[in-house]
Amino acid sequence: MEQATIDSIRTSLENERASLERQLLDSGASIEGDQVEVSFDEGFADSAQATSELSELIAHVEQLHATHSEVVAALARLDEGGYGICESCGSRIASERLEALPIARLCLACKQQRG
Ligand SMILES: [Zn+2]
Repeated sequence: MEQATIDSIRTSLENERASLERQLLDSGASIEGDQVEVSFDEGFADSAQATSELSELIAHVEQLHATHSEVVAALARLDEGGYGICESCGSRIASERLEALPIARLCLACKQQRG
C-alpha cells in the first residue's frame, strides 16, 4: 500500500476514534487509554427516563464500544504491521476496500464467503 493511502486511512481511523470517544463519553462511559469502561450503574440508570430508553441506550453504547475496539485494533495493526492483511486467507485486502472500510479484517472474497 502507498504511504499516502496509509496516511489517509490512519487519519480517518483517528477521526473515527475521536468521534466514537466523544459519543461514548456523552453516553456515560469512561475511557482510559485504549480501555473503555462501560458501567450501567445507578447514576447511569437515573439518566435514562424509562427502561426501554435505557435498554436502547445500552445497545447504542455497546455498539459504539464494539466499533471503538475495532478502530483501536486497526490502528494497532497500522503501528505494528499486519494492517490490510486478511485474517482468514492472509492475502492483501484491496486498498479501495480499506479506504471504504478502514476497520476491515477480511478481504472481500472471505467476507462474502462468510456471508
Ligand atoms: Zn481473505
